[in-house]
Amino acid sequence: MIRLNDIIEKANSYLYLLEPELEVIKSAYVYSAKVHTGQKRSSGEPYLSHPLEVAGILADMKLDVSSIVTGLLHDTVEDTLATLEEIESLFGKEIAFLVDGVTKISQLPLTSKIDEQAETFRKLILATAKDIRVVLIKLADRLHNMRTLQHLSEERRKRIAKETFEIYSPLAHRLGIDWVRTELDDLSFRFLNPEEYEMISKRVTKKKKEWEKYVEEVKGILGTKLTEFGIKAEIRGRFKHIYGIHNKMQSQNIEFDNVYDVIAFRIITTSLRECYEALGAVHSTWIPVPGRFKDFIALPKGNGYQSLHTTVIGPFGERMEIQIRTRRMHEIAEHGIAAHWKYKEGRIEGGDSDKIYANLRQLLEWKDIKDPTEFLEAVKGDLIPDMVYAFTPKGDLKELPNGATPVDFAYSIHTEVGNCCTRAMVNRKIVPLDYRLRSGDTVEIVTSPDKHPSRDWLKFVATSRAKTKIRSWLRIEEREQSQVVGKSISERKFKQNGLDFQNMLKNRELDAALSELGFKDIEEFYLAVGFGKVSVADLLKLILPKGKLEQTPERESRLQRIINTLTRSTTSGVLVKGYDDVMIRFANCCSALPGEEIVGYITRGRGLTIHKHNCPQLLDTDPARRIDVEWDKGFRGPRAAKIMVVCSDRPGMLSSITRSIASSDVNISKAEIHSTDVDRAIGTFDVAVSNLTQLENLITSLKKVKGVISVERILGVEEAS
Ligand code: MN
Repeated sequence: MIRLNDIIEKANSYLYLLEPELEVIKSAYVYSAKVHTGQKRSSGEPYLSHPLEVAGILADMKLDVSSIVTGLLHDTVEDTLATLEEIESLFGKEIAFLVDGVTKISQLPLTSKIDEQAETFRKLILATAKDIRVVLIKLADRLHNMRTLQHLSEERRKRIAKETFEIYSPLAHRLGIDWVRTELDDLSFRFLNPEEYEMISKRVTKKKKEWEKYVEEVKGILGTKLTEFGIKAEIRGRFKHIYGIHNKMQSQNIEFDNVYDVIAFRIITTSLRECYEALGAVHSTWIPVPGRFKDFIALPKGNGYQSLHTTVIGPFGERMEIQIRTRRMHEIAEHGIAAHWKYKEGRIEGGDSDKIYANLRQLLEWKDIKDPTEFLEAVKGDLIPDMVYAFTPKGDLKELPNGATPVDFAYSIHTEVGNCCTRAMVNRKIVPLDYRLRSGDTVEIVTSPDKHPSRDWLKFVATSRAKTKIRSWLRIEEREQSQVVGKSISERKFKQNGLDFQNMLKNRELDAALSELGFKDIEEFYLAVGFGKVSVADLLKLILPKGKLEQTPERESRLQRIINTLTRSTTSGVLVKGYDDVMIRFANCCSALPGEEIVGYITRGRGLTIHKHNCPQLLDTDPARRIDVEWDKGFRGPRAAKIMVVCSDRPGMLSSITRSIASSDVNISKAEIHSTDVDRAIGTFDVAVSNLTQLENLITSLKKVKGVISVERILGVEEAS
């Protein structure tokens, strides 16, 4: 077990710790030892060994004091009675923030669907971490757990090894920390594929003496050559790690003995110029293999890696891989992101975090962050701030833009799920559909076949996918309605002109006229009529003899006109924005009159229904289907209304009432009177009025009729269909 002093010594080698920093590390150690007292690891060791080792790894990674302190405390909140508040009061905000970050990552449900969604899981970790140090601490934590994995059950070993291989090792690679990546790869490989690991590792051991001798010989030749060229450089020879050898064998389908670049040489120079000079020295000594030279100095890798790579035919006729880089490039290759904390006298140079993070830019080049400045913004706050990651109940992970709602989530699963989404549960609690999802949320969508997208959803959805799908649903619906409306208008207009529309269609009599107007088929025409783009008269003009249309006045009696108005609302008196000729009906439930505030409701296939704005039936309907309408100011009616008159049951009563109605200049279209058993009669009258005022005046005058007990307007006017 590593001792506190070892950690301090490691840290001191690059941090030059000040007294207060030493004190913080020591007190974190004491605190961690106290709260973990009595806990043991699966290996039987005291639990404290784990945070100590993690802190040691963090010092190996050359991280700052806060990271090392967090390493000591990283499991306290999750596994002991310690609280975040206590950590904050003892160690300050920064440490509490880091501990909280590590705890949050530990609590992510990462286990399922790793194969298919590894990349998204990695991004979830970055999104959750918020501070890059949290990811690094988590990597150190994972590295130590992997080093001690043999103490766990077979099943857990496999699961954790897989998670490490799919998620953490690529993260280490992305952050450019090569030594952590290779160790994680080897350890994962060891537990996922023990036989293969054992086989390669035995062969490596067997060859080791031979290889070491070879390395020394090559180093000798190379050293002499570099000196000849006047280059001062360090030469290193190292064996490929076991997973790397396995990978080579697999990808090139070769046997162990044929893996030629098990040994790689590195030339570490002091200047950039010397890199290219050393390359010249190498190529003038041994023949380069064509196509194997790569200049990662001029064109660095995505994670910031820089080096010259070449393969030559070596002194014994074998292929030999050589990497050439400066010391600084070497540091970055080994320590990646951490090498960008430039320590000067133990302090982070530059001071403000913006500058430190600016260096991380190229290291975290995730495919889908296109604009580098956007990424710079990203590292200042959240690591991946513009995305949230939420789970389905089955553990599928969905990546959505920040601000996404359950409706966006539903559409990301399937269009139908979105279209029928009625309710949402987040972490088992019901939330409104415009709830803003957060990373790590588990979202359950409740669907119902009766539910349909609402125009209101457009106000809060964040994904373009959801927007497109909602709009397209609304558009289809609008089309369908317009077609139905268009059809109804067409049929009516034809009938008025004494033509049987349906019959003419069947007999293809309309085909020529339709195509002359530029319509492919009748459906297209309906649609155009429904949208008010074409008038039915345009079609009639082509069919009727010239001048016939204009000469066809609607020959209607006064009574007929009233009835038409009552039953059909040909000229409804209602103005609908954007619709000139839409089919309008007045809802029976409230039979609105001019003078009353009204709202239009788009029915499914029955045109527009007009309700009073406060009609209870209207308030029950989908708000997305309501549209603004208003009364045509020039409209003089009439409109149907119904009144109920209670009066004494005596002869002549009915004629008194009808006379009174007539004298108010109101027409009666229907009258019913029946007697009750207490000398009373109840009469209901369907009347045609031009507006609310006229109806109110009528009621007032009726109340004055002798024998009339009460008069009231009743709703529920029957409209003939
Ligand atoms: Mn841990």
